[in-house]
Amino acid sequence: MTVATEAVHTAAGLASGLLVDGEWLTTESTFGVVDPATGEMLAQVADASVEQGIAALDSINNAAAGWAGVPSRDRGEILRRAFDALKAQREDFARLISAEMGKPLAEARAEVDYGAEFLRWYSEEAVRLEGDYRVSPDGGSRLLISRRPIGPCLLITPWNFPLAMATRKIGAALAAGCTAIVKPAGQTPLTTIKFAQLLLDAGLPKGVLNVVTTTGSGRLSGALLADGRIRKISFTGSTGVGRLLISQCGQNIVRPSMELGGNAPFIVDADADVARAVDGAMVAKMRNMGEACTAANRFLVHSAVIDEFSTLFAERMGTLTVGHGLDSDTQVGPVIDDAARNTLSALVEDAVERGAEIRTGGHAIDGPGTFFEPTVLTGVPVESRMFGEEIFGPIAGVTAFDDLDEAVRLANSTEYGLAAYLYSNNVERSLRTAERLDFGMVGLNRAIVSNAAAPFGGIKQSGLGREGGREGINDYLDLQYVAIDA
Ligand code: NAD
Repeated sequence: MTVATEAVHTAAGLASGLLVDGEWLTTESTFGVVDPATGEMLAQVADASVEQGIAALDSINNAAAGWAGVPSRDRGEILRRAFDALKAQREDFARLISAEMGKPLAEARAEVDYGAEFLRWYSEEAVRLEGDYRVSPDGGSRLLISRRPIGPCLLITPWNFPLAMATRKIGAALAAGCTAIVKPAGQTPLTTIKFAQLLLDAGLPKGVLNVVTTTGSGRLSGALLADGRIRKISFTGSTGVGRLLISQCGQNIVRPSMELGGNAPFIVDADADVARAVDGAMVAKMRNMGEACTAANRFLVHSAVIDEFSTLFAERMGTLTVGHGLDSDTQVGPVIDDAARNTLSALVEDAVERGAEIRTGGHAIDGPGTFFEPTVLTGVPVESRMFGEEIFGPIAGVTAFDDLDEAVRLANSTEYGLAAYLYSNNVERSLRTAERLDFGMVGLNRAIVSNAAAPFGGIKQSGLGREGGREGINDYLDLQYVAIDA
């Protein structure tokens, strides 16, 4: 047994993938989950049909009123028990994430810690769904305002953070008093399956959360949204699929929350501490092999420091150890699949044809597994594909600027608006520059913006709504006001 199959075998309850009303169901057809570091088949999970998706919807719809009526303290206690259980099973979850997604074990452990924080955060938020009592300006009536669960939700998650993207949505939905179907990405369903079992073990009543794994995501979500009983969808994934889902929300006025793609600028100003900026660049680029929506995508570096920055950055990137995520010395795992790797090769080729210089890496690594060398390119023209598109891999393109106004203009020249980074030692200038950056999140001398206590999300075509923070739960709540003749 390989380390990856062993990691999967130690995770209980993986036989199915289809959780409806507290029961794991089997289906006639199944699909395989592959270790991206070896191409080895790890497990088979249920390939749910549209009819099975509708059965899952019947179940969460039936459970909705009961769950909304559970006292918020009790809902919070279940989430808190799930937090404790997840921390206790940290290593099993980390190994499973690493096996099916490919990230190095240290990063998988960090994902478990980050993902668990959403359970703790929302266990605390569950009891703070306050309303309001107002007197109308004419003094003639009283206004009683309350917040209540929006109703059955559809939660669709991507493969890059298979646990944290699930806990971020599920935690908020359950705390608000909503029931939900979660549909994990086909590449990484095992972590979600194991997490759903953990929630059942923590006391979540049957039917409150169902899991549907399928190869027919579009058909299934289309049918669920057309049915009329889903009141909310929360989606994390590509902008193209997000756009399609938003249009499908129109038919039944379903409320969308969308966490979509990014094209993060990483600006290094002339007065930055260059060593610190390189440390930040390593994290902002290489966390999750660059497969993060917040990953630094365009390095905009002042011409006064660009040589020092590029040399140090290429040196650091060139010494990273690439390998299986479960090997203890691995710092960079595989990218998710062949298609992703081919896109990376094409992006490098395009930039080089337009005049960029490869400082380290630049090539796909022969299989088995879908690996790509950590890569730094300098002199990347703004017309190149990698400047305009989300790279989603371990490639950093560096472009020079001469004054900060120019950097801000280049940074904002994208339809995306998720995360941006700025390294500078001038606090006032940094704060003023952050205000001019059209992004939902800005890291100042900091390479990670994700935090369960902060409102994560983008502007422009990077999405709608926020997850985490005090704001995250609002997407799952409706307001009602009662007018009192008093
Ligand atoms: P994707 O859009 O292909 O898939 C995301 C999810 O949607 C998966 O569960 C997939 O099965 C499902 N899906 C695919 N087609 C669908 C359809 N027609 N209808 C309904 N569901 C469908 O994206 P991906 O390749 O899994 O993830 C990469 C993308 O996700 C990147 O663009 C990245 O930036 C984005 N992402 C964003 C965030 C964020 O918070 N903003 C976080 C992680 C990833």
